[in-house]
Amino acid sequence: MSKFILAIDQGTTSSRAILFNHAGKIHGLAQQEFPQIFPEPGWVEHDANVIWRSQLSVAQKVLQDHHVSASDIAAIGITNQRETTVLWDRKTGTALANAIVWQDRRTAALCDQLRDEGKAALFQQKTGLVLDAYFSGTKLKWLLDHVPGAHARAERGELAFGTIDSWLIFKLSGAHVTDTSNASRTLLFNIHTMQWDEELLDILDIPRSLLPAVVSSSGVAAHTHTALFGTPIPIAGIAGDQQAATFGQACHQAGMAKNTYGTGCFMLLNTGKLAVASQHKLLTTIGWTLGDGASASTDYMLEGSVFMGGATIQWLRDGLGIIQQASEVEALASSVPDAGGVVFIPAFSGLGAPYWDPYARGTIVGMTRGTNKAHIARAALESIAYQTADVLEAMQKDARMPLQELRVDGGAARNDMLMQFQADVLNVPVIRPVVTETTALGAAYLAGLAVSFWNSKEEIAAQWQMDKRFEPNMRADERAQRLHTWRRAVQRAQAWDI
Ligand code: ADP
Repeated sequence: MSKFILAIDQGTTSSRAILFNHAGKIHGLAQQEFPQIFPEPGWVEHDANVIWRSQLSVAQKVLQDHHVSASDIAAIGITNQRETTVLWDRKTGTALANAIVWQDRRTAALCDQLRDEGKAALFQQKTGLVLDAYFSGTKLKWLLDHVPGAHARAERGELAFGTIDSWLIFKLSGAHVTDTSNASRTLLFNIHTMQWDEELLDILDIPRSLLPAVVSSSGVAAHTHTALFGTPIPIAGIAGDQQAATFGQACHQAGMAKNTYGTGCFMLLNTGKLAVASQHKLLTTIGWTLGDGASASTDYMLEGSVFMGGATIQWLRDGLGIIQQASEVEALASSVPDAGGVVFIPAFSGLGAPYWDPYARGTIVGMTRGTNKAHIARAALESIAYQTADVLEAMQKDARMPLQELRVDGGAARNDMLMQFQADVLNVPVIRPVVTETTALGAAYLAGLAVSFWNSKEEIAAQWQMDKRFEPNMRADERAQRLHTWRRAVQRAQAWDI
């Protein structure tokens, strides 16, 4: 019997490979960072070949380091930075240009133009997304329009498009596929019919032949080339990073939510079989599809992203220099009883959900002569929780599902003070699991379910273990007053750089 699932976790700054055992515990990990490419202000690229080579090398390394052979691996699960766009030659398998990364803003004007033409509602209704440069569709159009000869070659069926999952699977196996969760981030996929949408493809002038086949998030999609690991391994799990983390947190039922506190914060609420159309500028997205054909079952999510989460603490460290390491923020913030009336809006690159204000800028209000760095640090920490509270309020209005608890992960979720304050301002218990590598774990679970390494979602949910639970402990009037003050302060930061 195979002993492990190999999770391939291709992130924005590093490629990682993690071996998970039957208990859902980490057996081994290898990681490699790779360069970020910034050719012009607002542009962010990755070399797709470097991504592939780094990912293959960490996958081979983790097996070697832990004396695990390919025959010990039941399946591979892939999770990836989402929306990042690759265009390659089907025959040679070489990328035509650098991958355009999700953060890249070069197609913002194109999105404005489509909005001016009144197309936003159509895109939102079909794809669940806001018409924004963040998603793959306009990035692919940009590549077709700017790489010499690309459009004509695409018309002739010579090229392939994919997000990072597709690209890696193509290199691993030769198959050209993506899963429903990744497809749902392209602006090209109809999340209701579960098909690439001809009308949207026409609007963006994207030839149909470029697109991968859309498969289940949990099912054997392909087998790796024998030469790579010595024996073919089934690729049986695929999901975008935030969806995989939601699965890894065992948020399998409608009404369950997780929030990841990394550079930004990503909250996903499982809405079950219902694709809830947001009235409050959240995204409607596919969480995962389990099973194939007639037995396929898809769960939808509402998603809200906050741009500056843990990155706010990085700014205290690198921008202000008032701490040496992120973990020191807790001690500094605890040295004062409260933020002393200071409110910090970390809108350094605009505000994400539910404001979507690209013109908002970072603002600190309420300072007096008594204000010191500890108040600023405390207000910075609080801002992470307040932004999350804004997203959750929007979600609850959209979904009309009261949240029982919030499961958390990511680097800043290690901060107990932040997690307690989060529970206080949400008035919802916040729960941190033992395994916080939830992204890779979710990909492993999706793969393991498909090959009967694990037998059911229930078995997986039973493996989820709590590290710490934070109970809300703030009076209702104080909570209301604080949120009111926060929202007044947000108004001061909005529509600034216009
Ligand atoms: P990513 O995957 O986006 O790179 P991580 O999940 O690794 O992010 O989390 C790193 C982020 O967490 C950094 O932005 C860092 O500032 C923040 N962070 C780390 N430790 C703490 C802490 N103790 N308190 C608050 N923020 C923290």
